[in-house]
Amino acid sequence: MTCCDKFFLVLAGVGCLLSLSVRMPGATKSQIHKQPFGKIADQSAIDLFTLTNAQGMEARIMTYGGTVVSLKVPDRTGKMGDVVLGHDTLEGYLKNNPYLGSIIGRYGNRIAKGRFSLGGHAYTLAKNDGENHLHGGIRGFDKVVWKAKEIRNKDGVGLALTYLSKDGEEGYPGNLAVTVVYTLTNQNELKIEYSATTDKETVVNLTNHSYFNLAGSGSILNHEVMINADRFNPVDKGLIPTGELRSVKGTPMDFTTPTAIGARINQQDEQLVLGKGYDHNWVLNRTGDALELAVRVVEPSSGRVMEVHTTEPGVQFYTGNFLDGSIKGKGGHAYEQRSAFCLETQHFPNSPNQPKFPSTVLKPGQKYTSATAYKFSAQ
Ligand code: BGC
Repeated sequence: MTCCDKFFLVLAGVGCLLSLSVRMPGATKSQIHKQPFGKIADQSAIDLFTLTNAQGMEARIMTYGGTVVSLKVPDRTGKMGDVVLGHDTLEGYLKNNPYLGSIIGRYGNRIAKGRFSLGGHAYTLAKNDGENHLHGGIRGFDKVVWKAKEIRNKDGVGLALTYLSKDGEEGYPGNLAVTVVYTLTNQNELKIEYSATTDKETVVNLTNHSYFNLAGSGSILNHEVMINADRFNPVDKGLIPTGELRSVKGTPMDFTTPTAIGARINQQDEQLVLGKGYDHNWVLNRTGDALELAVRVVEPSSGRVMEVHTTEPGVQFYTGNFLDGSIKGKGGHAYEQRSAFCLETQHFPNSPNQPKFPSTVLKPGQKYTSATAYKFSAQ
């Protein structure tokens, strides 16, 4: 072997080593990594799972509240950025936490006066939002510990989270066995599939409460939003739907064509004043029962695009109106008003007291199912 041959042999070796340790974009292997994330007051240990797909997109989900802790997606140059609000440590989530990234249940959104009747029985729930019940009560599904099972299949990687909500928990009837499957697909989607069964007639309305900012930080007012809905639920001062399904035509609630969030948010419109911005349920235009496009959001500076596809009849579009800078999240950043938005796919608020709304009743022998996919791309 000549001196030259030896040189090329060494070069080839170094090249091999480099290709093993450096992951080229698009060449990542999907994987799941589990790590401890601390303990809650009753000493239950919380785990944090990091899911990575074949394109390098990453979702972190913890067993406390089944919470999406971070979601890293590429911008138009391929640069990864975290597009959800959250905390660096478990402690952050245990303090005053407005449901950042959590699973919401048993009933996402409001039930008027914390009351409903079913099968001749009157049920009373906690009033944790003025005189109304919000997001499942004092200790909703966002504050319980979920059991997690790792999933690896051809679609990507995921987690199956399970929780048994006991009969009477937060005032709701029936033992409710709940499964929430998160899948990070290799097509850059975070898919959430919810299912539940009960042993007594009850109501169920599950969702996820991620706060998105597709730029990663700053105001959301430049994000352009399209909501596939010709109608919305106008609300009263307690943000309870009046029962009317009102046309969005000619109002600031019309997002049938892409419009910047900030274009009309400060108008002196009765509904915007009541919501302190957008905090309403849109009645989605639907053609069937499958996953259908509900919302498309474009963030012009990063080029990130998020599409929300769902099987649900409604979506709550909430523009972080109650954030006021008092919560210090990841990296110590103060979460200011309108620095994130939520798109909570759901049945309509207060359905248990609105017989004309699509029903949220679940009976023994039936299976509740719901699915939503958040699909990311860049333009
Ligand atoms: C509600 C808001 C509420 C927020 C809690 C949203 O789903 O619509 O009214 O303030 O959750 O953080």
